[in-house]
Amino acid sequence: MLSTNWGGRWTVLVEGRVMWDFEPVTRALKRDKVAFITGGGSGIGFRIAEILMRHGCQTVIASRSLERVQASAKKLTAATGQCCLPVSLDVRQPVTIIAAVEETLHKFAKIDILINAAAGNFLCPAVGLSFNAFRTVLEIDTVGTFNTCKVLYEKWFKEHGGVIVNITATLSYRGQILQVHAGSAKAAIDAMTRHLAVEWGPDNIRVNSLAPGPIYGTEGFRKLGGLTKAVAGQDKLIPLQRVGTKSEVAHGVLYLVSPAASYVTGATLIIDGGHWLTGANNLSVMQALLQKSARL
Ligand code: NAP
Repeated sequence: MLSTNWGGRWTVLVEGRVMWDFEPVTRALKRDKVAFITGGGSGIGFRIAEILMRHGCQTVIASRSLERVQASAKKLTAATGQCCLPVSLDVRQPVTIIAAVEETLHKFAKIDILINAAAGNFLCPAVGLSFNAFRTVLEIDTVGTFNTCKVLYEKWFKEHGGVIVNITATLSYRGQILQVHAGSAKAAIDAMTRHLAVEWGPDNIRVNSLAPGPIYGTEGFRKLGGLTKAVAGQDKLIPLQRVGTKSEVAHGVLYLVSPAASYVTGATLIIDGGHWLTGANNLSVMQALLQKSARL
């Protein structure tokens, strides 16, 4: 048996006959895929855009603030040499998603990948949440994810197939205090992932969730306490003894959208260093955190 690397392809020959012919996964992703990323102008969404672009994708980054996505698109293009289209939308308003998707199709003539990373979160005990605050988080996270999936399905994926990755969280796995709004919203998205995976599988659409744990250097991490004194030492409760990085989440997305995951759908990939298994609620830490976050 002989293996050769020819023009980036790996070919396995047996007695002169090609028995197995494949490209490295990252190379296979390079064929000008177009990724539409909500929340792509900041934090984890931005790093997902960057990593996909470094692997040859063109991207669309979408959020409410056009100024923010325009500035981010400039940085992403300068860093990667790939094209990045900034668009403004509010995932709660389907009409704005439709306009953004039509603009994308006008520019790139296709969309291969959808990443739903837009979300809103803050710490608050259930009793302190206004009815409106609870509803707003579900509207951005859960309804917003559904709206975007549905528009993409109707406008492109139904006829051409595609890959969807929904960014969720582990908050609901153990019922994290002060997080009933975000935990409920993300749990509903994980359920939506499975429903859509089943319903849209025959259309050649894969749908998966990726649930990050605490990720350093993000707005979410800062809002939830970050590296403040209140949570000092909490990272040692994580089996891998540290919080995660944005790149570690983005590499999980890279896997899910690549041919390496071609038979993966309806799954939730947890990237949290094992945190949810050991990170029990610590009431005194969370109370201290709540007092601190009220001043943020
Ligand atoms: P982030 O930087 O605050 O990202 C949230 C993004 O969503 C922003 O770019 C924001 O942009 C956009 N957005 C908010 N509301 C929107 C709306 N109505 N329509 C369209 N876009 C909207 O937060 P992050 O911490 O990186 O989080 C990214 C994702 O990872 C989220 O889904 C979050 O729940 C998840 N996650 C994060 C962590 C963590 O430790 N950071 C842990 C678990 C899960 P505009 O303000 O311009 O709209």
